[in-house]
Amino acid sequence: MTLLEEDLLSAAADLLPGAVALRRQLHRQPELGLHLPQTQAAVLAELEGLGLKISTGKGLSSVVADLEGALPGPRILLRGDMDALPMPEDTGLEYSSELPNTMHACGHDAHTAMLVGAARLLSGLKEQLSGSIRFMFQPGEEGSGGAAVMIEEGVVDGVDAAFAMHIAPNLPSSMVAWRGGPVMASADVVKITVAGRGGHASSPHWACDPVPVACEVVLGLQSMITRTVDAFDPAVLTIAQINAGTTDNVIPESVELIGTLRAVSEGTRHAVWERIRTVAEGIASAHGCTTSVEILEGYPVTVNTPQFAEFAASVAGSIFGERHVLNMPAPVMGAEDFSYVLAKVPGAMLFLGVCPPEQKNSLLAPACHSNKMVLNEQAMADGIALHAAVAIAFLQGEYSPS
Ligand SMILES: [Zn+2]
Repeated sequence: MTLLEEDLLSAAADLLPGAVALRRQLHRQPELGLHLPQTQAAVLAELEGLGLKISTGKGLSSVVADLEGALPGPRILLRGDMDALPMPEDTGLEYSSELPNTMHACGHDAHTAMLVGAARLLSGLKEQLSGSIRFMFQPGEEGSGGAAVMIEEGVVDGVDAAFAMHIAPNLPSSMVAWRGGPVMASADVVKITVAGRGGHASSPHWACDPVPVACEVVLGLQSMITRTVDAFDPAVLTIAQINAGTTDNVIPESVELIGTLRAVSEGTRHAVWERIRTVAEGIASAHGCTTSVEILEGYPVTVNTPQFAEFAASVAGSIFGERHVLNMPAPVMGAEDFSYVLAKVPGAMLFLGVCPPEQKNSLLAPACHSNKMVLNEQAMADGIALHAAVAIAFLQGEYSPS
């Protein structure tokens, strides 16, 4: 089989106008959470006639499409998430969101369109493929854990490896970034209630004021993070919300602290859970208050299989050139529910540079989750080509796990 790198790039370039049109359609009509009926319908319409075996989700509006090659072989899963964020859009784009407080600010519209493009490209090569390719169109990445629901519904059954990309507006277009091992953090919600005894603000000695105690807890937690966590196996704890009180002359009964905990190893993550309790309870009891600590477990650490990440990076190098492939020195502290897929099967998630060319310093480009996030749609051709190239190389046996 001869599938030259240039062939893939030019096939992807031919598919780009269709991908851009689909991405803009999704961008105008973003949907949230696990149920994305219009997005699902758009994907199903795009996949029609490609000769794929298609099934849709029960507990969510997912689409799973299987491409069976003419010859037997392994199965690789390619994933694209499809959901948007509950936030206003301020990009000024002519295809801006038409819905209030809903925006594709994380590029999942582009992920969906690139995966459709890859399905088109690869279905044209069906006769030459040894093995099969599963296209995973996933709702509910932004906090709803759609990947976990799809796993329960069988999406990774019979899958030998999994691959995904996330767009990165802060990475120059035509660049791909990768990392073996932990690549994104876990994300847990931390809720702490410090309870005292309310009273008159003029007579704190008759009450038990939880406000200064809660402030001490916030500072104690920051000391705990810097003094007990290995700098090379880091954790971030941000108390982002403090709720207490109703007026200036009443000591409130309690204070609520809410924040996020990020870590890049399960060991540090679980150790910090325990220390949060110890610090909060210790400080509160020293002042006669009580605490309750709730850790709402979110996405686990996203861990790329080192050999697979290296394999995918070398495929990227062969199509874009080695100097366009960046080995990331550290993980990013954002989180991803592709972590659930990578906990089940070997694979990797890479970052695809989509910084708009007019933005001279990519680090200053509005990032994912910004109300001003824009991406270079031309770079979507790179994403289509990379999806296809990784799948083809995998089915050709170019990945060896050892
Ligand atoms: Zn995202």
